[in-house]
This record gives sequence, structure tokens and C-alpha cells, in this order.
Amino acid sequence: MENVPECAEPTLRISQTHFPVEALGPGRRLGIWTQGCGLACAGCMSRHTWDPLGGASHTVSSLLGLWHEALARGADGLTVSGGEPLDQPAALESLLAGAVRARAEATAPGGPATGREIDILLYTGYEQEEVERDAARSAAVRHADVLVTGRFRAAEPTALVWRGSANQRLRPRTARGWARYQEHLARTESGPRLQMVEGEGDVRLYGVPRRGELAALERRLRRVGITLTGASWRR
Ligand code: SF4
Repeated sequence: MENVPECAEPTLRISQTHFPVEALGPGRRLGIWTQGCGLACAGCMSRHTWDPLGGASHTVSSLLGLWHEALARGADGLTVSGGEPLDQPAALESLLAGAVRARAEATAPGGPATGREIDILLYTGYEQEEVERDAARSAAVRHADVLVTGRFRAAEPTALVWRGSANQRLRPRTARGWARYQEHLARTESGPRLQMVEGEGDVRLYGVPRRGELAALERRLRRVGITLTGASWRR
């Protein structure tokens, strides 16, 4: 769902934002999760992001304000996930194009991030071919340095970093993306892959869990007397 009237400032429906995220790409990153996903993967841990009318509407300029702040605070990258970011392609394109411009300013001589390597990572549940045959989606992804593509398939677990199932592909698209992600294409991780952050009246988990990691977390919490209610993977 998208609402970008001509001449109006573009807006994106957003589930949440956070800095620093350390479980979705290298280093400390600004995370932006879009709201709305119609792909309905069985076993999705983010069912709270499915409703396209949930979350809140944010202007692209307010999201770029968060990116400027994160760059000044040492961000190594921007990760946009969801929800399904490419279900709002025009506003997403505007956000990513603005993020590229802000990065160029910040890393120029005298900027707050001079000399730092900073990348833009976009997650999508669409397959590469589904992106390529849609002009608006293709236009949006051209600003990203790297994509993670493909539906989450619970029956195909993986230890590959930053991917939830073995079918999902990490796809560098730019020279910067290749330089930064080549070493991670086949890298695996056997330990916990989630970052836990206290929210406003809730607890948020960032990252891509290994198979069984959410159930193990719930068991550990129950042992110390904590029962999760309203878990986003059970809605
Ligand atoms: S795993 Fe991602 S693409 Fe699949 S339903 Fe959940 S949010 Fe949508």
C-alpha cells in the first residue's frame, strides 16, 4: 500500500526504528522496519508488521533525520527490513536515494563520518526475478549496496549470517557492497543471533533467529519466571 500524492512529501508506513542494531549487517547500524507485508511466510517472527494499516506514517525527511543522527553517532550502515519494504516502492526509493546523498555528505572531508565505510542493506521477501520484473521495485533497489532476497522458509534452516532460511540470498550490488559483504556470503554463525532491546512497555528482538532460538529463549525466560505475552511470531 502506498500513498504518495504528487507534490506531497513522500511518507512510509513504519513499524519501528532503532539505533544501534548489531544483528542485521556489519557493525552498528540504523534499523528501519517498514509496516505491511502480504507475503505471509509461515513461521514469520514479525507478524505484527503484516497489517498495512498498522505502525505509523513517517515522512521520508524525518527518517533521513534519524539517518543523519546515526551517521554523526558512528553508524556503520543502514538496514531497511520489514514488513515488506518493496510494497512501498516509490517512498522507499526516495528514502534510499536520500540516504545515499546523506552518506556522501557525511563521509566527505570535514563531515562527521569522513573516511568511514558505510553501506545500505535492504531486506526483501521478493525473489530477485520478482524485483526485476517490476519497474518501481527495480528503481528502489538500485540505491542499495546489498540485498537479502527471498521468502522465509521455516523448513530450510540455515546458519548463514543475516539470513533466516537457506534459500535466501545475500546479493551485493555495488563495489562497496562487494567489498564489504564478500567475506560474509558463505560465513556461518552457530551461536545466538538475536539482539534484545527494551522498548516502550515491551521487549524487542532484532536479528534473524536460528531454528529453535525463539523457543529456547522462551524456555529460558520461563525458568526465571517470565512468560512472554503477545509474541509477534504467534499473532
Ligand atoms: S518473513 Fe518477511 S517477507 Fe515473510 S511474511 Fe514475514 S515480514 Fe513478510
